[in-house]
Amino acid sequence: MFSDDVALADYHIHPDFSVDAEGSIEDFCLAAREKGLSEICFTTHYDTNPIDSEWGRSIRIDGELKLNSVVNFGHYVRAVETAQKESPMVVKCGVEAGYYPGCEDEIEKLIETYPLEYKLGAVHEVGDICICNEESIKRAYGDIPLEKLVEDYFGLVKQMVESGLFDTVAHIDMYKWHGLKYYGDEILTGHRGRIEPAFEAMVKHDVGMEINTAALRKGHTEYYPTMEIVNSARKAGVRIASIGSDAHRPSEVAYDFEVAKMIAYDLFPYCNE
Ligand SMILES: [Zn+2]
Ligand SMILES: [Zn+2]
Repeated sequence: MFSDDVALADYHIHPDFSVDAEGSIEDFCLAAREKGLSEICFTTHYDTNPIDSEWGRSIRIDGELKLNSVVNFGHYVRAVETAQKESPMVVKCGVEAGYYPGCEDEIEKLIETYPLEYKLGAVHEVGDICICNEESIKRAYGDIPLEKLVEDYFGLVKQMVESGLFDTVAHIDMYKWHGLKYYGDEILTGHRGRIEPAFEAMVKHDVGMEINTAALRKGHTEYYPTMEIVNSARKAGVRIASIGSDAHRPSEVAYDFEVAKMIAYDLFPYCNE
Protein backbone atom coordinates (compact mmCIF):
# COMPACT_ATOMS: atom_id res chain seq x y z
CA MET A 1 0.00 0.00 0.00
CA PHE A 2 1.16 3.50 -0.72
CA SER A 3 1.03 6.13 1.98
CA ASP A 4 -1.79 8.52 1.26
CA ASP A 5 0.21 11.76 1.30
CA VAL A 6 -0.03 11.92 -2.48
CA ALA A 7 -2.98 10.64 -4.50
CA LEU A 8 -1.25 8.37 -6.95
CA ALA A 9 -2.47 7.68 -10.43
CA ASP A 10 -1.15 5.24 -13.03
CA TYR A 11 -1.61 6.75 -16.48
CA HIS A 12 -0.23 4.02 -18.72
CA ILE A 13 -2.05 0.69 -18.54
CA HIS A 14 -2.66 -1.99 -21.15
CA PRO A 15 -5.61 -4.31 -20.53
CA ASP A 16 -5.99 -7.40 -22.70
CA PHE A 17 -7.49 -5.41 -25.58
CA SER A 18 -3.77 -4.83 -26.25
CA VAL A 19 -2.48 -7.94 -28.03
CA ASP A 20 0.66 -8.10 -25.88
CA ALA A 21 -1.20 -7.75 -22.54
CA GLU A 22 -2.91 -10.10 -20.08
CA GLY A 23 -5.74 -9.31 -17.66
CA SER A 24 -9.17 -7.77 -18.07
CA ILE A 25 -10.09 -4.18 -17.33
CA GLU A 26 -11.74 -5.40 -14.10
CA ASP A 27 -8.55 -7.26 -13.07
CA PHE A 28 -6.52 -4.06 -13.52
CA CYS A 29 -9.03 -1.98 -11.55
CA LEU A 30 -8.84 -4.47 -8.71
CA ALA A 31 -5.03 -4.47 -8.73
CA ALA A 32 -4.98 -0.66 -8.71
CA ARG A 33 -7.33 -0.53 -5.72
CA GLU A 34 -5.20 -3.07 -3.87
CA LYS A 35 -2.16 -0.83 -4.45
CA GLY A 36 -4.10 2.13 -3.04
CA LEU A 37 -4.19 4.17 -6.24
CA SER A 38 -6.78 6.89 -6.48
CA GLU A 39 -6.97 6.84 -10.24
CA ILE A 40 -5.99 4.83 -13.32
CA CYS A 41 -6.05 5.57 -16.99
CA PHE A 42 -6.25 2.78 -19.54
CA THR A 43 -4.14 3.37 -22.63
CA THR A 44 -4.59 0.44 -24.95
CA HIS A 45 -2.44 0.32 -28.09
CA TYR A 46 -3.64 1.81 -31.35
CA ASP A 47 -0.88 0.90 -33.80
CA THR A 48 -1.64 0.95 -37.50
CA ASN A 49 1.75 1.43 -39.18
CA PRO A 50 1.69 -0.68 -42.38
CA ILE A 51 5.33 -1.72 -41.80
CA ASP A 52 4.30 -3.45 -38.58
CA SER A 53 3.16 -7.10 -38.47
CA GLU A 54 -0.56 -7.87 -38.59
CA TRP A 55 -0.33 -8.96 -34.95
CA GLY A 56 1.23 -5.62 -34.01
CA ARG A 57 -1.65 -3.76 -35.66
CA SER A 58 -4.36 -5.74 -33.92
CA ILE A 59 -6.70 -5.35 -30.98
CA ARG A 60 -8.12 -8.26 -28.96
CA ILE A 61 -11.91 -8.29 -28.75
CA ASP A 62 -13.58 -11.13 -26.81
CA GLY A 63 -10.45 -13.23 -27.19
CA GLU A 64 -10.16 -12.71 -30.93
CA LEU A 65 -7.62 -10.61 -32.77
CA LYS A 66 -9.01 -8.00 -35.16
CA LEU A 67 -7.15 -5.25 -37.00
CA ASN A 68 -7.18 -1.90 -35.24
CA SER A 69 -9.82 0.39 -36.67
CA VAL A 70 -11.94 3.23 -35.39
CA VAL A 71 -14.95 0.89 -35.28
CA ASN A 72 -13.15 -1.97 -33.49
CA PHE A 73 -11.74 0.45 -30.92
CA GLY A 74 -15.32 1.08 -29.76
CA HIS A 75 -15.37 -2.30 -27.98
CA TYR A 76 -12.53 -1.11 -25.75
CA VAL A 77 -14.09 2.28 -25.06
CA ARG A 78 -17.40 0.69 -24.02
CA ALA A 79 -15.61 -1.78 -21.70
CA VAL A 80 -13.79 1.10 -19.95
CA GLU A 81 -17.09 2.99 -19.68
CA THR A 82 -18.60 0.01 -17.85
CA ALA A 83 -15.67 -0.03 -15.41
CA GLN A 84 -16.08 3.71 -14.88
CA LYS A 85 -19.61 3.09 -13.66
CA GLU A 86 -18.71 0.13 -11.46
CA SER A 87 -15.42 1.13 -9.83
CA PRO A 88 -15.27 3.48 -6.82
CA MET A 89 -11.91 4.70 -8.18
CA VAL A 90 -11.46 7.28 -10.93
CA VAL A 91 -11.07 5.29 -14.16
CA LYS A 92 -10.13 7.10 -17.34
CA CYS A 93 -10.25 6.04 -20.94
CA GLY A 94 -7.15 6.87 -22.96
CA VAL A 95 -5.07 5.53 -25.78
CA GLU A 96 -1.44 4.93 -26.65
CA ALA A 97 -1.39 5.68 -30.34
CA GLY A 98 1.65 4.70 -32.38
CA TYR A 99 2.76 7.67 -34.46
CA TYR A 100 4.18 7.48 -37.96
CA PRO A 101 3.99 10.10 -40.71
CA GLY A 102 0.68 9.51 -42.46
CA CYS A 103 -1.31 8.29 -39.44
CA GLU A 104 -2.68 11.74 -38.61
CA ASP A 105 -6.08 11.53 -40.35
CA GLU A 106 -6.88 8.19 -38.75
CA ILE A 107 -5.87 9.33 -35.24
CA GLU A 108 -7.92 12.47 -35.74
CA LYS A 109 -10.92 10.36 -36.66
CA LEU A 110 -10.34 8.17 -33.58
CA ILE A 111 -10.27 11.11 -31.19
CA GLU A 112 -13.26 12.74 -32.86
CA THR A 113 -15.26 9.53 -32.51
CA TYR A 114 -14.56 8.75 -28.85
CA PRO A 115 -14.29 11.01 -25.81
CA LEU A 116 -10.72 9.92 -25.01
CA GLU A 117 -9.45 11.60 -21.85
CA TYR A 118 -5.75 11.03 -22.41
CA LYS A 119 -3.83 10.64 -25.64
CA LEU A 120 -0.34 9.22 -25.30
CA GLY A 121 1.69 9.46 -28.47
CA ALA A 122 4.42 6.87 -29.00
CA VAL A 123 7.05 6.42 -31.68
CA HIS A 124 7.47 2.65 -32.02
CA GLU A 125 9.07 2.57 -35.48
CA VAL A 126 11.90 4.53 -37.02
CA GLY A 127 11.72 4.05 -40.78
CA ASP A 128 11.38 0.30 -41.16
CA ILE A 129 12.94 -0.46 -37.77
CA CYS A 130 10.61 -1.47 -34.96
CA ILE A 131 12.34 -0.30 -31.80
CA CYS A 132 10.20 -2.59 -29.61
CA ASN A 133 11.50 -5.65 -31.41
CA GLU A 134 14.89 -7.09 -30.53
CA GLU A 135 15.46 -8.75 -33.92
CA SER A 136 14.70 -5.47 -35.65
CA ILE A 137 17.14 -3.54 -33.44
CA LYS A 138 19.78 -6.20 -34.02
CA ARG A 139 19.42 -5.71 -37.79
CA ALA A 140 19.48 -1.93 -37.35
CA TYR A 141 22.74 -2.22 -35.43
CA GLY A 142 24.35 -3.71 -38.53
CA ASP A 143 22.91 -1.06 -40.86
CA ILE A 144 22.44 2.24 -39.07
CA PRO A 145 24.79 4.26 -36.89
CA LEU A 146 23.44 5.19 -33.48
CA GLU A 147 23.51 8.91 -34.27
CA LYS A 148 21.19 8.46 -37.24
CA LEU A 149 18.80 6.17 -35.38
CA VAL A 150 18.43 8.63 -32.50
CA GLU A 151 18.31 11.71 -34.75
CA ASP A 152 15.54 10.16 -36.86
CA TYR A 153 13.68 9.01 -33.74
CA PHE A 154 13.56 12.48 -32.21
CA GLY A 155 12.63 13.94 -35.61
CA LEU A 156 9.54 11.71 -35.48
CA VAL A 157 8.80 12.68 -31.87
CA LYS A 158 8.90 16.34 -32.94
CA GLN A 159 6.57 15.68 -35.89
CA MET A 160 4.22 13.78 -33.58
CA VAL A 161 4.13 16.67 -31.11
CA GLU A 162 3.54 19.19 -33.90
CA SER A 163 0.56 17.19 -35.16
CA GLY A 164 -1.33 18.58 -32.15
CA LEU A 165 -3.08 15.24 -31.64
CA PHE A 166 -1.44 14.14 -28.39
CA ASP A 167 -1.32 15.18 -24.73
CA THR A 168 1.88 13.41 -23.74
CA VAL A 169 4.92 11.71 -25.27
CA ALA A 170 5.20 8.09 -24.09
CA HIS A 171 8.54 6.53 -23.04
CA ILE A 172 10.66 9.23 -24.69
CA ASP A 173 13.93 7.22 -24.80
CA MET A 174 12.47 3.78 -25.45
CA TYR A 175 15.01 3.12 -28.24
CA LYS A 176 17.34 2.10 -25.39
CA TRP A 177 15.14 -0.91 -24.49
CA HIS A 178 16.88 -3.42 -26.81
CA GLY A 179 19.26 -0.77 -28.13
CA LEU A 180 21.49 -0.80 -25.07
CA LYS A 181 22.41 -4.45 -25.66
CA TYR A 182 23.64 -3.79 -29.21
CA TYR A 183 24.72 -0.16 -29.34
CA GLY A 184 26.17 -0.16 -25.82
CA ASP A 185 26.34 2.62 -23.24
CA GLU A 186 26.66 5.30 -25.91
CA ILE A 187 22.91 4.96 -26.43
CA LEU A 188 22.36 6.51 -23.00
CA THR A 189 23.89 9.80 -24.16
CA GLY A 190 22.66 9.62 -27.77
CA HIS A 191 19.94 12.19 -27.04
CA ARG A 192 22.47 14.96 -26.38
CA GLY A 193 22.14 17.60 -29.07
CA ARG A 194 19.23 15.67 -30.66
CA ILE A 195 16.35 15.79 -28.18
CA GLU A 196 16.27 19.60 -27.86
CA PRO A 197 14.12 20.39 -30.94
CA ALA A 198 11.54 17.86 -29.67
CA PHE A 199 11.57 19.57 -26.25
CA GLU A 200 11.03 22.97 -27.88
CA ALA A 201 8.04 21.61 -29.77
CA MET A 202 6.66 20.07 -26.57
CA VAL A 203 6.82 23.39 -24.75
CA LYS A 204 5.29 25.24 -27.71
CA HIS A 205 2.40 22.79 -28.10
CA ASP A 206 2.01 22.13 -24.36
CA VAL A 207 2.71 18.42 -24.71
CA GLY A 208 4.04 16.73 -21.58
CA MET A 209 6.42 13.89 -20.91
CA GLU A 210 5.67 10.79 -18.85
CA ILE A 211 7.85 9.03 -16.30
CA ASN A 212 7.47 5.43 -17.43
CA THR A 213 8.75 2.87 -14.93
CA ALA A 214 8.64 -0.11 -17.32
CA ALA A 215 12.33 0.24 -18.19
CA LEU A 216 13.16 -1.24 -14.78
CA ARG A 217 11.18 -4.35 -15.66
CA LYS A 218 13.21 -4.64 -18.87
CA GLY A 219 16.50 -4.78 -17.02
CA HIS A 220 17.43 -1.08 -17.19
CA THR A 221 18.70 0.76 -14.13
CA GLU A 222 16.72 3.93 -14.91
CA TYR A 223 13.21 4.72 -16.11
CA TYR A 224 12.09 5.92 -19.51
CA PRO A 225 13.57 8.49 -19.54
CA THR A 226 16.88 8.62 -17.68
CA MET A 227 17.41 11.28 -14.99
CA GLU A 228 19.72 13.10 -17.39
CA ILE A 229 16.79 13.52 -19.79
CA VAL A 230 14.40 14.38 -16.94
CA ASN A 231 16.78 17.15 -15.86
CA SER A 232 17.22 18.58 -19.34
CA ALA A 233 13.44 18.45 -19.85
CA ARG A 234 13.07 20.48 -16.67
CA LYS A 235 15.57 23.05 -17.87
CA ALA A 236 13.78 23.30 -21.22
CA GLY A 237 10.44 23.88 -19.46
CA VAL A 238 8.85 20.58 -20.48
CA ARG A 239 6.30 19.43 -17.94
CA ILE A 240 5.97 15.95 -16.47
CA ALA A 241 2.41 15.01 -17.30
CA SER A 242 2.08 11.66 -15.56
CA ILE A 243 3.68 8.56 -14.14
CA GLY A 244 2.89 5.31 -15.89
CA SER A 245 3.84 1.72 -15.26
CA ASP A 246 3.08 0.65 -18.85
CA ALA A 247 1.60 -2.40 -17.11
CA HIS A 248 0.80 -5.30 -19.42
CA ARG A 249 -0.43 -7.49 -16.54
CA PRO A 250 -2.22 -6.55 -13.30
CA SER A 251 0.80 -7.33 -11.09
CA GLU A 252 2.74 -4.56 -12.88
CA VAL A 253 0.35 -1.74 -11.97
CA ALA A 254 2.13 1.16 -10.18
CA TYR A 255 5.46 -0.62 -10.44
CA ASP A 256 8.15 1.33 -8.52
CA PHE A 257 5.82 4.32 -8.02
CA GLU A 258 7.20 5.01 -4.52
CA VAL A 259 10.38 6.27 -6.17
CA ALA A 260 8.81 7.57 -9.38
CA LYS A 261 6.44 9.83 -7.46
CA MET A 262 9.41 11.62 -5.90
CA ILE A 263 10.72 12.52 -9.34
CA ALA A 264 7.34 13.56 -10.66
CA TYR A 265 5.87 15.35 -7.65
CA ASP A 266 8.73 16.36 -5.36
CA LEU A 267 11.64 17.19 -7.59
CA PHE A 268 9.85 19.34 -10.11
CA PRO A 269 8.08 21.92 -7.95
CA TYR A 270 11.30 22.75 -6.07
CA CYS A 271 13.47 23.11 -9.12
CA ASN A 272 11.75 25.85 -10.99
CA GLU A 273 14.75 27.27 -12.79
ZN1 LIG B 1 4.72 2.03 -26.28
ZN1 LIG C 1 2.50 1.19 -23.50
